[in-house]
Amino acid sequence: MTKGKISVHTDNLLPIIKKWLYSDSDIFLRELISNAQDAIMKHKKLSSLGEAQMREKYEIKVKVNKADGTLKISDNGIGMTKDEVEKYINQVAFSGAAEFIEKYENENDDKSTIIGHFGLGFYSAFMAAETVEIDTLSYTDGATAVHWLSDGGSEYEIGDCQKDDFGTEITLHIADDNKDFLEMSTVRSVLNKYCSFLPIEIYLSDESDNEKEPQLINDTNPLWLKKPSECTDEEYKAFYHKVFMDFNDPLFWIHLNVDYPFNLKGILYFPKLSHELQSIEGQIKLYNNQVFIADNIKEVTPEYLMLLKGVIDCPDLPLNVSRSFLQNDGYVSKVSGHITKKVADKLTSLYNSDKDSYFKYWDDINPFVKYGCMRDEKFYDRVKDVIVFKKYDDTYITLKEIGELDDKEVFYITDSDGQAQYVELLKDENKNLVYLNYAIDTHFISLLEYKVSDIKFKRVDSYTGNDVDKDENLDEKIKDTFSAFYNQEKIEIKSLNSSSVPAIIVLSEEARRMEEMTKMYGNMGMMNLPKNEATLVINRTSELISQILDCKNDDVKNLICKEIVSMAKLSHNSLTGAEKNEFLDTTAEILKKLLNI
Ligand code: ADP
Repeated sequence: MTKGKISVHTDNLLPIIKKWLYSDSDIFLRELISNAQDAIMKHKKLSSLGEAQMREKYEIKVKVNKADGTLKISDNGIGMTKDEVEKYINQVAFSGAAEFIEKYENENDDKSTIIGHFGLGFYSAFMAAETVEIDTLSYTDGATAVHWLSDGGSEYEIGDCQKDDFGTEITLHIADDNKDFLEMSTVRSVLNKYCSFLPIEIYLSDESDNEKEPQLINDTNPLWLKKPSECTDEEYKAFYHKVFMDFNDPLFWIHLNVDYPFNLKGILYFPKLSHELQSIEGQIKLYNNQVFIADNIKEVTPEYLMLLKGVIDCPDLPLNVSRSFLQNDGYVSKVSGHITKKVADKLTSLYNSDKDSYFKYWDDINPFVKYGCMRDEKFYDRVKDVIVFKKYDDTYITLKEIGELDDKEVFYITDSDGQAQYVELLKDENKNLVYLNYAIDTHFISLLEYKVSDIKFKRVDSYTGNDVDKDENLDEKIKDTFSAFYNQEKIEIKSLNSSSVPAIIVLSEEARRMEEMTKMYGNMGMMNLPKNEATLVINRTSELISQILDCKNDDVKNLICKEIVSMAKLSHNSLTGAEKNEFLDTTAEILKKLLNI
């Protein structure tokens, strides 16, 4: 055994790294397995070049030994000579870590996430271990096996050891505060998280239980790497269920498969929604050459795609750099642009090839498409012709089709129960009557009005009827009769499409939006906003109205007028508590009168 000194100036490297890596303390396993995989890939490459003898089976083994307090990771890749250990492990690993710290020590970034995503290589082994040993034998002829040991400080030991087959075994003596990594279940779940799709087989075994066979952890040939033409629907669905633990079938999916001008593979799934937009929890898993990097990295995946579920494998991504670099990287924005294009293409082709299915999916995908349109102008431009509205009669109309109509006024229903009377009134008027009942729709409407200037959206309860059968004398008389029950300035006499509706409350779209905005953002200095713009629209074609005008019994007349106003407010959901009580009293009184009590 000889002893040497590692050339790092920072003696307190380890505590700093441990602290930084705290939130993602399992990352070391990914790093060590990536190294093992690299070593195997190198051997495969050399064999294909005729410089080594191809093995029958390449594999990585992870062994947990709770009794000894060790976790071992071994591979049958190229191994290292003594010189290589000196060079790669002592110099590179430690100085690499020191450099890393120098680089990030003064950054105010969220350090734990930086390192969590981009790893630290071999040195990260010290996050979980107090001592690390390497036993390695190079594949080269005449090489001798090397043993290396360090406690993560600035000293190490190196010497010979006994190892028959070439490859490397890393032994971690797990530190007391990381005993969790001696539990099979913990190690298995970490391996599942990072290594489920690595190209080399990984076997996990419990060294203290010889009975149990080592378990294969990964699927070495994940679906996204196959040609789309060779994958069946069943395979796509099974992959989705397994990876996202979602037992519902996805609606449809997009298989990304690009070789040029950059390398990008993956599958994006449109999940079936059960709730509102806020509760959609998408998950886009990012891989680099089948190694899991992280979930939902927003620099790579456009933000609105986070509502989807999927896997994206970008082998060329420069993942060893900081996030600020990613944000400014041209490659990254190309990837993100490509994904946007693919998603838009898929929606358009679905619409063109199978409208019925598209309409069926629309109820689930619409919040996502709308959100995408609001977030990304390019996406809007690509999908604008397949933006769809569900009509009151469950048929569908596209934005484009509305744009081609003479009547570009769209009445929308946000609450089919609460607005039932208005829907009834509008139904027969042949108006564009559609459902827009997601929270996002309020914002989406504004976008559409901005983009398509001649389209106007109005909520159904802003419908004011028409002036067919206008009769000024009659109208004046109605107004006079009702002025005592409602602010006369805000009474209008109109013809409604149903003679059984005596009156409705109408709030203009502008006034309502203004009211909503004030509610949402506060008054913001606009002190003179009108308080309540609601208008009582009385239906001159209603029988009840024409009869009440001639009623001689003032008592009955008052009761009925009051009741009509309350009914209108009730249908508009705008009765206050006191008004509701009054309405119930009036109704009871009318009933009594019916019985002549
Ligand atoms: P990186 O993997 O980013 O190069 P590491 O600190 O993880 O940095 O490893 C440093 C070097 O040590 C590797 O580049 C490789 O040459 C060597 N090495 C690490 N692990 C192994 C292994 N299991 N088998 C062979 N060589 C290894």
